[in-house]
Amino acid sequence: MTEESDTGLGGVHIKYLLHCPRQLWLYSRGYRPEQRSDTVAFGEALDETTYTRRRTIDLGEAKIDWVTTGAVVHETKSSRTPTPQHEAQVRHYCLLLSRLGVNVARGTIHYPLIRRTVEVPWGDEARAHAEETERQAHEVIGSHQPPPRLPRKQCRGCSYRDYCWGEL
Ligand code: SF4
Repeated sequence: MTEESDTGLGGVHIKYLLHCPRQLWLYSRGYRPEQRSDTVAFGEALDETTYTRRRTIDLGEAKIDWVTTGAVVHETKSSRTPTPQHEAQVRHYCLLLSRLGVNVARGTIHYPLIRRTVEVPWGDEARAHAEETERQAHEVIGSHQPPPRLPRKQCRGCSYRDYCWGEL
């Protein structure tokens, strides 16, 4: 495991990989249209107001919302729809923490807008899954060519459409 693979992948990389490998490739090369996105701003505002007593754990690229006693990794999402990407992000955080020697118990994803939580198990199977996801992300990032575009209908709402499709 290289130093870069220990520290270079955050939750955003994992989310983009699973949404669209091309999106991850562009992001890894400095394209950041989401910084201007209202959706992102809304998520950050919700983040800052929902759980005011938590402490973010900063692992470089990866910022874990907070970890409670027994090493439960918490993540808050502004989305109303739980997705496999969210679970993959939390597994990635569990992986990073476990590499630091933390005896991780599990993850919990909070969806305050729908008042729901989703538990993310952690163990051998989840670790293998997280390591495979990490491997795939590094493979995409290391590619010299951008991965192909998704079918256009799947690009709806993606902040990289300007680049991929020339739309304003
Ligand atoms: S616009 Fe489509 S192809 Fe381009 S990064 Fe977004 S989802 Fe992928």
